Order: sequence, then structure tokens, then C-alpha cells
Amino acid sequence: MISELIVPVLWLGGMAIVFGAILGYASKVFAVEKDPKVPLILDVLPGANCGGCGFPGCEAFAVAVAAGSAKVDSCPVGGASTAEKIGEIMGVDAGGSERMIARVICQGTSSNCSNKFEYYGVRDCKEAVIAQGGHKSCNYGCLGFGTCERVCPFDAIHVTEDGIAKVDPDKCTACGKCIEACPKLVIDLVPASKGVHVDCNSKDKGKEVKSNCKVGCIGCKACVKNCPEETIGFEDNLAKIHYDKCTQCMVCVEKCPTNAITAEMIQTKQKVS
Ligand code: SF4
Repeated sequence: MISELIVPVLWLGGMAIVFGAILGYASKVFAVEKDPKVPLILDVLPGANCGGCGFPGCEAFAVAVAAGSAKVDSCPVGGASTAEKIGEIMGVDAGGSERMIARVICQGTSSNCSNKFEYYGVRDCKEAVIAQGGHKSCNYGCLGFGTCERVCPFDAIHVTEDGIAKVDPDKCTACGKCIEACPKLVIDLVPASKGVHVDCNSKDKGKEVKSNCKVGCIGCKACVKNCPEETIGFEDNLAKIHYDKCTQCMVCVEKCPTNAITAEMIQTKQKVS
């Protein structure tokens, strides 16, 4: 009876030793060398795993940076300070990258922008846009049903009472999730340090803009002509500030006849004074 048990036990023991030796050998031969910089980079990353860097998570991003296939300043949550730390680990200059934030470039609130029709469908921008591009008279404006609000992992964007999405600059990490989700492409990334913006996304001609919205860019180019830094361009019937040279002198804000260019005084004061 005992001899009947001993033979299979010896067989199993022998097989375990052989397979163990094979696995041990294979793990040595086929081992993938882990870059020692990866855990160091992971340590300085915020660990949000938001995907804002374009990689599935912080670890994938760290591996890509260590391999030289991702830029050190690509983590939107960590911003400039994280970029600097990663730059030190990688031995490169992080380039003093500017913190960016999302901005809804539309002022088409319920009192500023008229409606084409009453919409009674699902209160989601992606659904609403299926019906003739949405209920707003302006085809380029914020629909205000909060698709962006629902995808923001940082609670940084909310639809205001007058029906337009607005970003909280302190909470926004520029992860870009709201930009991807907005079917109207009305959210853009802007430098956090700048307080002057063309808050209109309409590509329509001036007459049409005027009939749809009280605060749209009508393409008069008063800002373009008067900007002392010559930093405002004009494309698709729309003024566009090139932020690199903008000194926030406010001339464009004063000259804009429709108030389509806005100044956020809290940010602006810090910068201008
Ligand atoms: S507001 Fe947009 S960009 Fe900013 S954190 Fe939220 S989803 Fe990301």
C-alpha cells in the first residue's frame, strides 16, 4: 500500500524539481531588463492614472519617458514641477513649460444666445447635437447639457445656471477629457497665466453671428488692427490671440464692439501689475 503511494509522490517531486529548474533558467534567459529610471519617475508622478498624457496610466507613461518615447512635460496633472523632477531624472531640461487649462470659448448663455427650437430630448450634448446640430441658434456654441461635466475626473467643469459650461482654473489639470467629449469642439486649452481670451467659437459671417448671439465675434478685426503687439490673428471669421506675445494690455478688450474678448481680472491683475 505504502509503496503504491511512494512511486507517484517521487514522480511528482521529480517533475516539480525539473519544471522548477526549467522555469528558473527561462526567467534568467528571457528576463526583460527594467530601466531603473522607471520607478524613480513613477515616484514623482501624481498617480492619477487619468490618461491625460496619452498613455493608459502613470506606469506606461513612466516606461515611455524612460525609453525616450514620451516628453518629460507630458503629465498634465503634475504640471511644470513634475516635468522639472522628471527632467532631473532623465538629465534633460524640462523647458519651463507653461501650465495650461481648459477654457470654454463661448459666452452663449440663455440670455445671450437664442434658440432655434425647444429641445425635449436626452439632456446630453452628444445626443442633443444629433437634432440639427443642437437647439442653439449658433451652430458653434456650448449646448450646456454637461457632457464635459460628467467626464471631468477632477470636478473642474460645471454648467452654470444660465446654461453654459465653465472651467474652474484651480482644479483643471488640462487632461483634455472634456475637450474630447465636447461634440461642439468649443473647449480649448489656454495658458493658465493669461487672462484675455476671444470667447467665441463661431465661424459664421458677422451678420449671422449678430443675429444669433449678443457676444459673438463678428469679424470686424478691430482687435487685430489695434493690438500693439500684433499678436491677434484672424482665421475662419474669428479673431485668435497668439498668447506668446500677448502682454494683456487690454486694448483688444476695450476695442471689441461685442465684448467677445473677455478679461478675467483676477488672473489679469496678477500678470499686468
Ligand atoms: S476641465 Fe477638462 S481638461 Fe480640465 S481637468 Fe476637467 S476634463 Fe480635464
